[in-house]
Formats: sequence, C-alpha cells, structure tokens
Amino acid sequence: MKAAVVTDFSAPLSVTDIPRPEPGPGEILVRIETSGLCHTDIHAARGDWPVKPTPPFVPGHEGIGIVEALGDGVTERSVGDRVSIAWLGSACGHCRYCISGWETLCENQTNSGYSVNGAWAEYAVARAAYAVRVPDAVSPLDAAPLTCAGVTTYKAVKVAGVRSTERVAVFGIGGLGHLALQYARIAGGFVTAVDIEDDKLDLARRLGADHVVNARRDDPVERIHSEVGGADVAVVLAASSQVFDQALRSLRRGGRLVCVALPADGTLNVPIFETVLGGLTIMGSIVGTRTDLAEVFDLHAAGRTEVVAQGRALDDVNGCIDEVLSGKVPARLVFEL
Ligand code: NAD
Ligand code: ZN
Ligand code: ZN
Repeated sequence: MKAAVVTDFSAPLSVTDIPRPEPGPGEILVRIETSGLCHTDIHAARGDWPVKPTPPFVPGHEGIGIVEALGDGVTERSVGDRVSIAWLGSACGHCRYCISGWETLCENQTNSGYSVNGAWAEYAVARAAYAVRVPDAVSPLDAAPLTCAGVTTYKAVKVAGVRSTERVAVFGIGGLGHLALQYARIAGGFVTAVDIEDDKLDLARRLGADHVVNARRDDPVERIHSEVGGADVAVVLAASSQVFDQALRSLRRGGRLVCVALPADGTLNVPIFETVLGGLTIMGSIVGTRTDLAEVFDLHAAGRTEVVAQGRALDDVNGCIDEVLSGKVPARLVFEL
C-alpha cells in the first residue's frame, strides 16, 4: 500500500509502498479516505520534541476511513463503519486517569502517527475501542480536521471554563485556531483572533471573531488591553515561545492561559509577582478524550461549526508541509486517499 514515511528527521518524507498492516487482537483495519496534516505531524517528522518517535514511521492522526476487517475479539466496531484515528491511539483503560475521564493523561497510551504508525497511508490499523465513530452527517473531509484540531481546541475551551461574555484571545488562526474561535463562541465568549497573516484574520472575521490583531504589524498585548480590556482566557495555538509570552501578558486579572501549541525547545517565563497579584492560572491541554471527540462530531453534524479544509494528494506531502509552514494555507490541508 502507499504510505508517506518519515525515514530520518532531517530528510523529506518518502511516499512509498509498504506492507499493508494486519489487525491484531482488539484492532481494526481501516481503509483511509482522508487524513489531515496537523502541525504536530511536522514536529514529529523533524523530531522537534524531547520524546521522539522512531523512524521509519508513518505520521497522521486525523485519519478517517471505513473499517474493512476486524482482529480477534473486536466487538466495538463492525465492518463498514466510518471511524476516526486520533492522536490517542489507545490508553491502558484502568489507571487513575483512564477511570476518571482523563484518558488523555494515561502514562501507557499509544499515539497514532508517533509511537505507532498513523493514517498517512491507504490503510491503517487502530484499536477498535479508541476509533470513535463518525456520524453520517459529517463528511470525511470535515471529519479529519475535527479529529485533532477540533477535539483539541474544544477541550481547551472546556478546561478553560469559558463563560458567556468572557473575552477569549486565540493566538494562531491555523488548523486549530479556526475551530478554537468557533468553540469559544459556542461557549458564549467574545473572541479576539491574533495571527501574523491578514488572510487568516479575514477568515477569523468570517467565522465570527469580534476583534482581530495582526501581530506582525501591532503589539497584540497592547491592543488587547487597550481595545477590549484584556483577555479572560488566552489560548496559544502558534508554535513560538514568544507567542506564549504575549498571550500571558494579554490576560486581565483572573485570566487563564491555555498552552496548546508545542514549539521545539519551548519555554515560558512566568513573572511571579503579576501571576500572584493577578490571580492568573496557567494550564496545559492535550488533545481530548473519545467523549470530547464524539461531542465535536455532534456539534458539527448539527451545523454548529464550519471546517475550512482543502483536499490534497498524499504524493504532494512534502510540498504540503512547506505550504503549512509558509502560513498561506486556508486552515487545514487534508490528504485524500
Ligand atoms: P498551523 O500551522 O495550522 O497554525 C498555526 C497558525 O499560527 C498559523 O495560522 C500561523 O500563521 C500562526 N502564527 C505563526 N506565528 C504566529 C505569531 N507569531 N503570532 C500569531 N500567530 C502566528 O498549526 P496547527 O496544526 O493549528 O497546530 C498549532 C500547534 O498546536 C502546533 O505546535 C501543534 O503541534 C500543536 N498541537 C497541540 C495539540 C495538543 O493537544 N496540545 C494538538 C494538536 C496540535
Ligand atoms: Zn494534531
Ligand atoms: Zn490509563
């Protein structure tokens, strides 16, 4: 089968033929229809993070496809189901995190496209119990970005506890950001969108942002304080330490910083005095649970969110990565297999 393979952190991906995987016990074989390009896949392909994947591997954790075969003992899914393959490939199911609704923190999880092969291929295997069903009302092109960009930002808005009329500053209107701002609005928040590309800010406006800042031209900290009184919640979705610093400083008293982007060698300098006197909260947020993803699909099926995505061929994977890094992509690229 055709797959995009990372062979070395310093080389382009190679689109090549590899053996079709066989589903083991508890696993399903999925014929991939669509598979999104998340910025995380770029970090993975370059070995950006302290815990690295081991080449050769197949990236991709926004995989959507049809179940074609079942491994031994699978009862959760049937042949013909449309399912998603998300970052949370599996978890142990019995630790304190798994049994308390925090399976995303399980210390014995697998991650699709990182610790196990992902969905940038014609076929992938997945743990049946973790492959959330995609409702018929959600197209495969829309379902792919929802499987990581959607669930991650839905969860970030949830953990921040965004309340009606709160000001939510979304830093980075890419794949994650264009959905983050919609979830913030669904929660009742007023949204400030920050990016360095005017096209992204035009998109943010069209999707309902109340206020936009081009951080290449203006200082977002100054504009957010002077024009909207500071942010109650700042969600960081741009992979740059400088943006975390701006987001923290854009908060008003009682504000919450939600760290989501994962820059290589990222650090955050936290001024203790301002944090204490301002009663600030700093939190990290990693993807979302299967329940969160089912909720994300339900919202979309009900017409409450819009996914902005363009289809691409897997053969163009390296060009697509350059396109994402150039900042010119309208939200998300999705490989159509
Ligand atoms: P993306 O490339 O689609 O979007 C990034 C956006 O940030 C772009 O619109 C870009 O123009 C903008 N940007 C760049 N520099 C900026 C700056 N200085 N100020 C404001 N905006 C700026 O990326 P994505 O797929 O949305 O992913 C974003 C980050 O989130 C990545 O680091 C990714 O690894 C991470 N991520 C984290 C999780 C998680 O669970 N925590 C899940 C998925 C992705
Ligand atoms: Zn992702
Ligand atoms: Zn666990």
